[in-house]
Amino acid sequence: MILSRDLYDSDITFHCPECGTAVVRKGSWFKSSKVFICDTCNAQTRLTYGLKLAIFDAYLHPPAAPNLPAYVRRKEQ
Ligand SMILES: [Zn+2]
Repeated sequence: MILSRDLYDSDITFHCPECGTAVVRKGSWFKSSKVFICDTCNAQTRLTYGLKLAIFDAYLHPPAAPNLPAYVRRKEQ
């Protein structure tokens, strides 16, 4: 798996592992950045290739149930 170019212009949400603050960056930012520094708690998170893959993958495959529109959930029950 590679970091998909399709996401370079996408707004991707990343949660600081220390304090959980959500930040939104472009996919291209994740691609080129090596460290994320949290504005809230100043924690530094190394953006390893594996972590970037996980971030992109989570964006492409969000957890199913909570984000589904209500009508989809009703159908499945
Ligand atoms: Zn933080």
